[in-house]
Amino acid sequence: MSAFLIIACGLFGLLIGSFLNVCIYRLPLQASVTWPASHCTSCRRPLSWFENVPVASWLVLGGRCRTCRASIPAMYPLVELTTALVFAGGAAIYGLSVLLVVRLAFACALIVLFAIDLRHRILPNVITLPGIAVGFVASWFLPPGWISSLLGLLAGGGVLLGIAEAYRRVRGQDGLGMGDVKMLAMIGAFLGWPLMILTLVFASFTGSIVGVGLMASGRGDMQAALPFGTFLAVGALVAAVAGDPILAWYLAFYP
Ligand SMILES: [Zn+2]
Repeated sequence: MSAFLIIACGLFGLLIGSFLNVCIYRLPLQASVTWPASHCTSCRRPLSWFENVPVASWLVLGGRCRTCRASIPAMYPLVELTTALVFAGGAAIYGLSVLLVVRLAFACALIVLFAIDLRHRILPNVITLPGIAVGFVASWFLPPGWISSLLGLLAGGGVLLGIAEAYRRVRGQDGLGMGDVKMLAMIGAFLGWPLMILTLVFASFTGSIVGVGLMASGRGDMQAALPFGTFLAVGALVAAVAGDPILAWYLAFYP
């Protein structure tokens, strides 16, 4: 993979990141992601082309709308930058291949779920359900293979469904949502069962650390629900990139 192609993929990622921002903003509102054209969410004025350049516009405008001065969250350029890095990194790892296209689609779904769960505590079905189907169908031709994908899909959904049900019976309230169940099923479908388990362990571990940190700093309590999908998204990205070496390293202790 030449440096030129990696940079080209990164720039393409900036544009896709800009579209992911539209999805992140509009999907929770059940609004169309293609119409109307981009506009200021505060004063509704349509944006001109130079206000729509990924990352650069936000920096030049100082993070504010040009007319109404409403502040534009830093999340927008951060999503664009992250998507660009993921696309460049994916190109470097997978080369120009069908697997690259499938893994980038998966990464885009994770980025959107990460941000929507963080802001709204929901994981929309329009992402997770097609994601399960795409991940499983792709596995007929590509890694991890359909058996591992099917096991990952069923075990991922099943484990969280069991935990959600147990929590509801013991505590009498919902700890995990069905969105988390469908999201882990999607991750299992794309990555296969071993990396699905790694994702779950990573997300539970980092989620606990952040949860304890928030409690210790007095900014959260035991009842405050953490966006588990946000942690699953980070865990799945780590597992997709570094999962196989991590598993090999871990299993080396148990020959
Ligand atoms: Zn405005």
